[in-house]
Formats: sequence, C-alpha cells, structure tokens
Amino acid sequence: MRALLRWPVPRSPTQTWSAGKFGIRNMTSPITSAVLYALTVSPAPTKPGPEDAAQKSHHVSSGFQNPWDSFTDLNFKVLGQMISRRFTGKANVPDTKPPTVPVQKPEFLPSRETSKLRATWLGHACYYVEFPSGLRVLFDPVFEDRCSPFSWLGPKRFTEAPCQIKDIPVIDAVVISHNHYDHLSHPTVTEIAKKHPNCHFFAPLGNKTWFHSSGIDNVTEMDWWDERDITLSPSAQKPTQVEAAGEAQSIAADIKARISCLPCQHMTARGPFDRCKTLWASFAVESGGKKVYFAGDTGYRAVPEQPEGAEDRKSEEKFPTCPAFKQVGEFRGPFDLGLIPIGAYGPRHIFSSVHADPHDAVKIFQDTKCGKALGMHWGTWVLTEEDVLEPPQKLKVALKAHDLAETGVFDVCDIGESREF
Ligand SMILES: [Zn+2]
Repeated sequence: MRALLRWPVPRSPTQTWSAGKFGIRNMTSPITSAVLYALTVSPAPTKPGPEDAAQKSHHVSSGFQNPWDSFTDLNFKVLGQMISRRFTGKANVPDTKPPTVPVQKPEFLPSRETSKLRATWLGHACYYVEFPSGLRVLFDPVFEDRCSPFSWLGPKRFTEAPCQIKDIPVIDAVVISHNHYDHLSHPTVTEIAKKHPNCHFFAPLGNKTWFHSSGIDNVTEMDWWDERDITLSPSAQKPTQVEAAGEAQSIAADIKARISCLPCQHMTARGPFDRCKTLWASFAVESGGKKVYFAGDTGYRAVPEQPEGAEDRKSEEKFPTCPAFKQVGEFRGPFDLGLIPIGAYGPRHIFSSVHADPHDAVKIFQDTKCGKALGMHWGTWVLTEEDVLEPPQKLKVALKAHDLAETGVFDVCDIGESREF
C-alpha cells in the first residue's frame, strides 16, 4: 500500500508547534517546504512467539474470546448489579467539579528531527508519540465530548480536549486498540482521514469493514502476534523560497518502523448484537531505536467481590493473572516506554476482568519489561465508580508496594503534557 505524506521543514530545529499559538496555518506558510513520503506496509519477517500463539485459542466461531482463566465474563448479572448499585445509592458517584486533572495546550515538534522519544497525553487512552526516526503515531484518538454512539447522550468529558485534530501537524499512523466508543470514534477517525488522507490505520481483526464503510481504505487488520513493517520513503521535495535563497535544506531519508499486534484481556462491542465479534489488542511500535508498548484497554486478573472495605492486595494473589503480558515482555520486550491503563476499575469485582487498576498496571509494567511508563485511561470520562483523582493516588501506593520509586518510573502527566524518553 503506497500513499503520500507531507511534512513541513522547521524554522529552527528546536521550535515546537503549539496547538494554541501555531496551528495548522503555519504548515502552509511560505517558509515551509513539503517532503512527500510514500508509505508502504509489508509483512515483517517471522519472529519467534509463545508456543500457544499458534493455537489461536482466542478465535471462536462467534468471534473472539479471552482464552485465560484470568478472565470472567461480564454477563447480564453484572449489568444488573451495576444498575441496582446506582438505584440503591450503593454506587459512588464521582465528583467531577473542577479543578480535577490539569489541561494544557500540547506542543508538538516542528520537524521529524529529534533524538528522543516523545509522548503527549491527549486525554483518556489517546497518546501522540513522536519517534526519533521521525514517525508520528496517534493511539486511540477520540476528540468528541461524549464517548457514545450519540452526540447528545452518554459519558461527557469532565476535562476538555487539550487540542483538536487540526492542531496536530502530522499523523503517519493511527493505532486503534478496539472498537469501544472511548477508543474508536467515527467522527474522529473520519476527520483524521480527511485532514491526513495518507495516514494509515492499524486495528485488530474484524475492524476493516467498519473502516471501509467509513470511507477509509488505508487500514491494516492484525491478529495477536502479527507484525508489519512500515516504510516512509521520500518521493519528492520541492525547495522553498528560503531554501532557494541558500539556507540549508534538510535531507529526508527513509523512515522505518515495525508494528506488532499483541494480546490483552478485554472485550468489544459497538452495539447490542456485535459482542466480541471484533478483536481487542495491545500494540508495540518500534522505530528509530525506540520501542513503545501501548497496552490498550485491559484487565489483568478477575477478582470476585471481597468483604466490604477489604483493601488487602495479598488476598487477590490467589487469583490467576493474564499470562499474555509476560509473553509480550519475553518475546517483544523490553520497551523504552509503556502506555498503560490505570483507571475505570471500580467496583473492582465488576471491572477487574477488563480494566486494570493501578496495582494491576504496575504488574503489567513489570511483566512486559517496560523501562518507563505513563498512565492512561483516566481523567477524561466517568466510566466507573472510583473518584476521578484516585487512579494516580493509588498508582503511587502500588509503586511503593512494588519497591519502585513513586516518581520517574511510572508517571502520570497532565492532559496535553509531553514527556521525553
Ligand atoms: Zn474497552
């Protein structure tokens, strides 16, 4: 698959694009030049994987399943429990009155030239990652106010989106972990495809039809343990007025990356009749000598209801954990950076199967062999009962319990903030 991508040459190597101050208009300024890239996606050479991967035990006739005893199905009984908790007043209703999570305007690098890996949290599970190779990847983008099939109903943001799609200077690839509305948004992906017509979308098995029916053909569906190579090759570069006047012209070279679709423990559905008909996944992207693990949306172990007020993690240790993360670490790790969910876990006995809490997140961080991590899947929509600022507080407790430093290893950032690695 070949497509053309454009990139502006920076005015200075250290300048960043601020979504607020330097919007998309700067991209068409006469002092920028356009490098055209041809994007190719090809099968990657086969790498060793875990023995059980070949059995494809996550494939079932009706779609897909979590093939581990660390998963308990969220059935109608659970749905009933959630509703009754709400109506009996047992449910905690999180207070979303500001101030909650600080939001800042993100700043994006002006060129593909950087020696570091850079990740910017754009709220919930959306990260924009700038690789030292020059590759720019957006994970699970949702820019709407509500994560729901309706624009007028469903969870509404309690923190504003830090920028809009038009503020992101370049998007080479979009990675979608699964089709839940807080991870896959029709208005968002169609706008990205319109503004970046050559952007390539990667999604787990079963999602291609949805993309095609949304008018997006640049999509690659992947199964767990599948890998693809991405090559961006410069195909044309026009000198600008500035360059013609004698200023140095940046030399564009091929940008290479490898993307791996990997397991995680979750479910899918966009309506009442498509439960687990499409796959869910975590992903790894390696480019320019840096490796990122995007855990997507995942649980780690299913924990049944504990006695009221029980907070003893030791009591949870007898329940099996998802073996996939150790396999990811062993066969695809180590990673420079993990983007790992820490929120949407309460009540634990209802959500532990599909949503990691901060303790699970630290275990996932360790199992997958991530050197550093940033938290996600919190601070944006109220999806569950825990207080909105509880995930980062619990993360500190979890880090301490695992003898890890409370800061500098597995951090949370402000919405719109960038970190370098
Ligand atoms: Zn989900």
